[in-house]
Amino acid sequence: MTSSSFTPVGQQVGQFYDQLVGAFDASLYGPNIHVGFWNNPDDATGLEEAANRLTDMMIERLQVGPGDRVLDIGCGVGGPAIRLAQVTGAEVVGISVSGKQVEKANELAEAAGMSGKVSFQHGDAMDLPFDDASFSAVWMLESVMQMPDRKAALTEAARVLRPGGRLALTDNYERETISEERRPVIEGILKRYLTQSPASFDAYPALLREAGLRPTEIVDVSENTTRQSVKRLGEALAKNMSELASKIDPEVFAKLKPADGENMEMPELGYLIVTGRRAAAV
Ligand code: SAH
Repeated sequence: MTSSSFTPVGQQVGQFYDQLVGAFDASLYGPNIHVGFWNNPDDATGLEEAANRLTDMMIERLQVGPGDRVLDIGCGVGGPAIRLAQVTGAEVVGISVSGKQVEKANELAEAAGMSGKVSFQHGDAMDLPFDDASFSAVWMLESVMQMPDRKAALTEAARVLRPGGRLALTDNYERETISEERRPVIEGILKRYLTQSPASFDAYPALLREAGLRPTEIVDVSENTTRQSVKRLGEALAKNMSELASKIDPEVFAKLKPADGENMEMPELGYLIVTGRRAAAV
């Protein structure tokens, strides 16, 4: 996209999520802040279960088990990290720029009896507070698009990965060329959610390589995820609007809520699952 696109910065993103922390509970995706995965348009799976399904697909890709240590960069309120530890027995450390999310995530880990295995701390993906090669695997679920620079974020992720370790992430990309007419509309919506320009499918392999990672999979799952979620999320939001409104500062809520009649669908954007491995020697 053009140079007028928005560049999110950690502190701003942290404040954004601090204000929203009350909204992420069982009323929508559960303790997850990522889209769900639906097998087909008739799949009646609810939002939270569909979000867990996408988490499970990402868990499979990490191939970790007891004795492994995984870093969750952009951990949200912790649902995916807790599930990862429960399913695999690996130890998980999550970081977020939102202090309130970190607090909530640690509470949820405690409540799930997982605080011995999973911990969350405040930290910025652009400058990770961890040693080189200190993790068996790293994931970034729907978080890299909120970081100021994909290449720098991936380079940091690769730095803390041990040689041969796996990275798994989800990201937005420009699936269809965005017309000049649509560009300001799309940029406006992305900016409202502190999201930077979408990635490019064709450029992803080089992006990973430049970060010191060997691409292993780049797959478009838009039809099963974002293509389904706007309508489904809209229905859930309509049902839970008053509950949500009571949990978020009214001024913040007014800013985030789609304008009356606004069409939030962005068919030009697609959703990717990406995996890579840190080169054995860098
Ligand atoms: N991965 C979680 C949350 C996704 S929402 C889930 O799937 O449920 C995006 C997350 O990325 C938020 O937790 C946000 O605080 C975090 N994030 C965005 N920019 C960040 C940065 N620069 N450093 C660390 N975390 C960041």
